[in-house]
Amino acid sequence: MKRKRLVWQIFPSFLLVTLMAIITAIWFASHALEIFFLDQTATELKDRIALVRYQIDPLIDPLQAERIDRICKIAGQISSTRFTVILPDGRVVGDSQENPAHMDNHAGRPEISEARGSGMGRSVRYSRTLERRLMYVAVAVSQQDRLAGVVRAAFPITSLEDKMQAIRWRMAGGGLLIAIIVGLISLLAARKISHPIEMLKTGADEFAAGNLDKKMPLPATEELAVLANAMNKMATQLDNRIETAINQKNELETVLSSMREGVVAIDATEAIMSMNPLAAEMFECDRDKVKNRSIQEVVRNLALQTFVSKALSAEDSREEDITFYRQAEVVLNIKSSPIVDTTGQRIGTLLVMTDVTRLRRLENMRRDFVANVSHEIKTPLTAIKGYVETLHNREVDSPEDTNRFLGIIIKHVNRLEAIVEDLLSLSRIERDNFREALNLAMVRMGDIFQTAIQVCQKGAENKHIDIQILNGEDLEANVDATLLEQAILNLLDNAVKYSEEGSRVEILAENRNGMIAIHIRDYGSGIATRNLSRLFERFYRVDKARSRQLGGTGLGLAIVKHIVQAHDGEITVDSKLGVGSTFSIFLPR
Ligand code: ADP
Repeated sequence: MKRKRLVWQIFPSFLLVTLMAIITAIWFASHALEIFFLDQTATELKDRIALVRYQIDPLIDPLQAERIDRICKIAGQISSTRFTVILPDGRVVGDSQENPAHMDNHAGRPEISEARGSGMGRSVRYSRTLERRLMYVAVAVSQQDRLAGVVRAAFPITSLEDKMQAIRWRMAGGGLLIAIIVGLISLLAARKISHPIEMLKTGADEFAAGNLDKKMPLPATEELAVLANAMNKMATQLDNRIETAINQKNELETVLSSMREGVVAIDATEAIMSMNPLAAEMFECDRDKVKNRSIQEVVRNLALQTFVSKALSAEDSREEDITFYRQAEVVLNIKSSPIVDTTGQRIGTLLVMTDVTRLRRLENMRRDFVANVSHEIKTPLTAIKGYVETLHNREVDSPEDTNRFLGIIIKHVNRLEAIVEDLLSLSRIERDNFREALNLAMVRMGDIFQTAIQVCQKGAENKHIDIQILNGEDLEANVDATLLEQAILNLLDNAVKYSEEGSRVEILAENRNGMIAIHIRDYGSGIATRNLSRLFERFYRVDKARSRQLGGTGLGLAIVKHIVQAHDGEITVDSKLGVGSTFSIFLPR
């Protein structure tokens, strides 16, 4: 619907009413004026009739038509009025302008019949004889209570009508002037009424646009001033409420953002209501684009979908670990709790998520570790038990066999000892305060290499393996010498163990990017790429049987890794199956 401005609604009504009033006034005035003029003329005509009547009255009975006609003609000339004398039967006996003998019967003329009835008649009409509008006034002449005739006077009213017309025109001109003035005044008045309302409208528009701190001016009209005041108050309250709401929202946002858990609120239709930054990170999605989108669409994970559906229909909280398969596996522990609104109505569910990938991995590792330790210890123990029982039951006769059995027992006991020793080293290194207990000192690399070589020299010689120090003997680093010796020894020991007879092992140290790099290179069996990632895990062995046969515990590399980490260093391996391996330790100087 096309809406008009208030001023254009008020103004035309004003104008219409004024115009109607003016037109009505003019109409009444001109009508009254006309009646007044006609009455005036009629009275005048009556007076003129009275003047001629006293001459005519005695001539009617007995009738002296000729004299009557002459009087008519003379009086007509003097007073520029047409006089006509008519007998009761309608016959004309005298007329100022015409020959009565040629005139038709006048009994039917309205003024005549009226005069015959009531003594006087009056009529205004067009005279074909004179070709103009005339006023006729007829007066009955009675003699001895009997109608003897009618004297009629006629006067052209054309000039009267012209005058009336002129007056009408002047009145119309005056009316138009008044209408223009009134129109202007009503336009001003309409504007005066509509202006404050328009001001209110502008103010309300400002409020609607969010400029609630602007106040609208108070109009002079009382009712509108009250309205403006109420609206100003409303705006102030609204502003305060919005500010409070924003503050609350910001507080909530801050709390959610600083939470170390991911939080997602989901409504009953599984659409996301809100999500904190950590949750967006966990789900790898853009937080700004997820609002009102279905969680199923944002996060494609079947387990999560099932969990959400169940959580939405469940009355109580639920908890589940859900695995997400990305570049690396991520395990999220998700807890759900129902969201209810102030009326107690269930509107959705809240998911609180914690990344438990590391925790679960550690738990698994611990479990595996215990299983591995038990297994590692059980194998030599079972062997020892078997041989000891055999000896105890004296089932062996010869001293050679007895010696051989004892040799085997010693081998297993040594193995047990090695495992226990390695475990003790590991647990020592893993202790929380181990770093602080490090015995740091500037040490020459050559000294460390020599000590480590001395320890494994015998094993190397047995396999005719040559251990060479290629470079960097004089480099120094701030390390715990005993621990670094052990790390180097473990690496040398592995290098010798997993190399063929007659091979060689090289050690070198160098400066690299402000770190000291120690490389232990062998030309032995090498390790397949797929096994490299797990190499430093406890008890991990590429070939279990071979390692065990070579006296390995599966803990050597784990110990090396922990020693290096205690020094804030890093260890890497570069290996190729059948070609050889290089283990590199990087330590800060
Ligand atoms: P182990 O006591 O069995 O040697 P480690 O922790 O020292 O245990 O080593 C883990 C595994 O890594 C070994 O079982 C072996 O398969 C592999 N490995 C370690 N060093 C080498 C090497 N220099 N060459 C080939 N394989 C190696």
